[in-house]
Amino acid sequence: MSETAYIALGSNVGDRAAHVDAALRGLAATPGVRLSACSSLYETSAVGPEQPDYLNAVLVAQVEVEPAALLGRLRELERFSGRVRRERWGPRTLDLDLLLYGERVVDEPGLTVPHPELHRRRFVLEPLVEVAPWAVHPLLAHTMDELLRHLPPGGVLRCAPPPSLP
Ligand code: ATP
Ligand code: CA
Ligand code: CA
Repeated sequence: MSETAYIALGSNVGDRAAHVDAALRGLAATPGVRLSACSSLYETSAVGPEQPDYLNAVLVAQVEVEPAALLGRLRELERFSGRVRRERWGPRTLDLDLLLYGERVVDEPGLTVPHPELHRRRFVLEPLVEVAPWAVHPLLAHTMDELLRHLPPGGVLRCAPPPSLP
């Protein structure tokens, strides 16, 4: 039995589109992970310390690996991109966050699903609504479409069509 996982991608250092592509290829090559869709690419002004704009997207995967194992793989792909962890919310080549794993709720050290900031971030909800407007937040009991409509407008620009899946 596979579950549907939604993963947020972000990059604001170096060749951002190349980092997004590498993440897609890395996930497609992961045993137990099958990519089924990717949103358009969006450009977003960064929060936190002064830094370049982000390229953001959300991808959909049918997964047969448990959430913790999936997060481990996401962190490995971040490392492969050359990501260095310095300050919180600082610039990075690649950030991969597990947003939703079916309707599962996980609250372990180092892993919270749904992602705790998901419903507050337009740069997450805009691409997420593009691929799964009807997906339900298991704790808030709202669809992604409803959550997006609760946020103030602005700050996120659709800048490129969905990349083709590897
Ligand atoms: P934010 O989580 O607010 O988007 P960030 O992505 O910049 O911030 P990171 O430095 O990438 O934060 O990750 C901090 C920690 O968050 C990681 O060590 C990871 O274990 C933990 N974490 C908890 N839940 C998740 C999740 N659903 N997806 C990704 N990381 C998570
Ligand atoms: Ca993040
Ligand atoms: Ca992260």
